[in-house]
Amino acid sequence: RVNLRELLQETILNVWTKAEQKHIKVKLTGEEEPVWINADPNRMKQVFLNIVDNAIKFSHENCWVNLNLKKYDHVVEVAVQDTGIGISEEHLMRVKDRFFQVNPLNGGTGLGLAITQQLVELHGGHMDIESQLGVGTTVTVILPLSKDDVTETNQDKI
Ligand code: ATP
Ligand code: MG
Repeated sequence: RVNLRELLQETILNVWTKAEQKHIKVKLTGEEEPVWINADPNRMKQVFLNIVDNAIKFSHENCWVNLNLKKYDHVVEVAVQDTGIGISEEHLMRVKDRFFQVNPLNGGTGLGLAITQQLVELHGGHMDIESQLGVGTTVTVILPLSKDDVTETNQDKI
């Protein structure tokens, strides 16, 4: 069992130096109680490091990146929102492809999102990307809650 809220806080600490260098604030909002999921903690950490790393990498200085945690009856949703360069519609459908990069000169391998998507799906979850060129990007990850963390009022329906 992994406390997803704590894992996201650790992720923010891991990217702190990088964010500071660009004067980017990384915030965690939403759910304030622990949120339990069944996951390999290191793999799950890699998922959110990849996503937040992108958000910082493709943002201008003095922006912000927000991680919002929202709990539903059986799933939890993490929305990583940035106000960065955004992605055009034609590129958006390809960003999850292995090796695809809008601008290969930015460095990296173009594997981050492909691996991230696979890891999320291996955990029974789903990843979705919304973006608007010049406005920003939101990557949403939906993961099943651990059985003992489903909303109590719905316990009897299971
Ligand atoms: P790596 O993750 O291996 O360091 P990468 O970041 O280029 O390399 P991905 O994470 O797979 O690779 O992302 C693929 C491409 O999608 C990026 O090169 C970039 O063009 C685009 N992209 C991803 N996230 C964002 C974002 N938050 N804002 C704008 N563009 C993005
Ligand atoms: Mg990346």
